Amino acid sequence: MHIETQLAQIGTGKDKVAGAVNFPIYPATAYRHPAPGESTGFDYTRTANPTRSVLEEAITVIEKGDGGFACASGMAAIQTIMGLFAQGDHLIVSLDLYGGTYRLFEQVLSRYGLTFSYVDLREPQLAEEAILPNTKAILVETPTNPLMQITDISAIVEIAKRHSLLTIVDNTFMTPYYQRPLELGADLVFHSATKYLGGHNDVLAGLIVTKGQELTEKIRFLHNSIGAVLGPQDSWLLIRGMKTLAIRMERHQENALKIAHFLKTHPQVTEVFYPGLDEHHNYEAQVKQASGFSGMVSFRVRHASQVPGFLSNLQVISFAESLGGVESLCTYPATQTHADIPVEVREKVGVCDRLLRLSVGIENANDLIADLDAALNASCKSEGRES
Ligand SMILES: *Cc1c(COP(=O)(O)O)cnc(C)c1O
Repeated sequence: MHIETQLAQIGTGKDKVAGAVNFPIYPATAYRHPAPGESTGFDYTRTANPTRSVLEEAITVIEKGDGGFACASGMAAIQTIMGLFAQGDHLIVSLDLYGGTYRLFEQVLSRYGLTFSYVDLREPQLAEEAILPNTKAILVETPTNPLMQITDISAIVEIAKRHSLLTIVDNTFMTPYYQRPLELGADLVFHSATKYLGGHNDVLAGLIVTKGQELTEKIRFLHNSIGAVLGPQDSWLLIRGMKTLAIRMERHQENALKIAHFLKTHPQVTEVFYPGLDEHHNYEAQVKQASGFSGMVSFRVRHASQVPGFLSNLQVISFAESLGGVESLCTYPATQTHADIPVEVREKVGVCDRLLRLSVGIENANDLIADLDAALNASCKSEGRES
């Protein structure tokens, strides 16, 4: 069955009690056992909940994996996965990484004796060079946040398999609608489902999908043991969002492409980062491994001093953190998503004070372009320069 159909029909036909088209919310935390030694399949909600199970089965099918696990947030999903590793283990990680993931690794997990090497995975051989005797996994974010750097997932998988390492992919930006890393040989995929999968800036959630029975059972054990699971109400809301993922992603991408082309021509913009521009670094890898480019566009303005004027002159686009919702948002990574990354590290990666990130929504593209144009022009006037 096609992914659009799988998405639209999440939960349909699963309610055996009333035949509800939309699967109901089960708030129950405890379940009656028919007899000693018998179970309905549900005992205690941390272990399994009927509403959450519908969501977990859906993401498993859609990502083409063997097990799905819904977590309280994207960070909870990463923390659960990190339970696979032990004191003394080392991981190789994308250099331009989501700030919260970097904070978890450097300020929390480092205290448990895990170490991380941040590597520019656009060049896969750099990953191989960074392998140490205690390396256990390569964690890839592609495209990266916020510079949209593309990593060739198959090339990383090939290196990881040769060295018996796990390949873990943060698929938040692409979603399974455009990219399915497990089909490319990755072992684990996770999402901040708060973003595109939820799609409406109204639910915090994370999802993990595993490949292979052994890894699935390990994550099932960690998911239940750590307990950072998604509640039934939020599971239902996420299911509801995911039903429209396909049409939302198409519109996000259509708008993002128009905006990327517009920004390229604007005199106040010096660089545009969008995987759908054929001059984008590793564009060939993107086209090979994904069926689209998603809706995230970053760009640099001429001067850092233009940023406050630009942000305060946006009318339609909201200056706000997060991404992937139907409403367009603009983020300033230097002070928002990447505030916990030391300035020298951030600047080295390219997350400078002139960089802005757009999560392009599903509004009319012309309204968004007019808003950007007006704010860019105003930003340069408030600077005393003419465009
Ligand atoms: C937001 C985000 C996360 C963290 O997810 P939360 O749902 O906010 O906990 C991880 N990775 C990426 C790429 C993200 O954008």
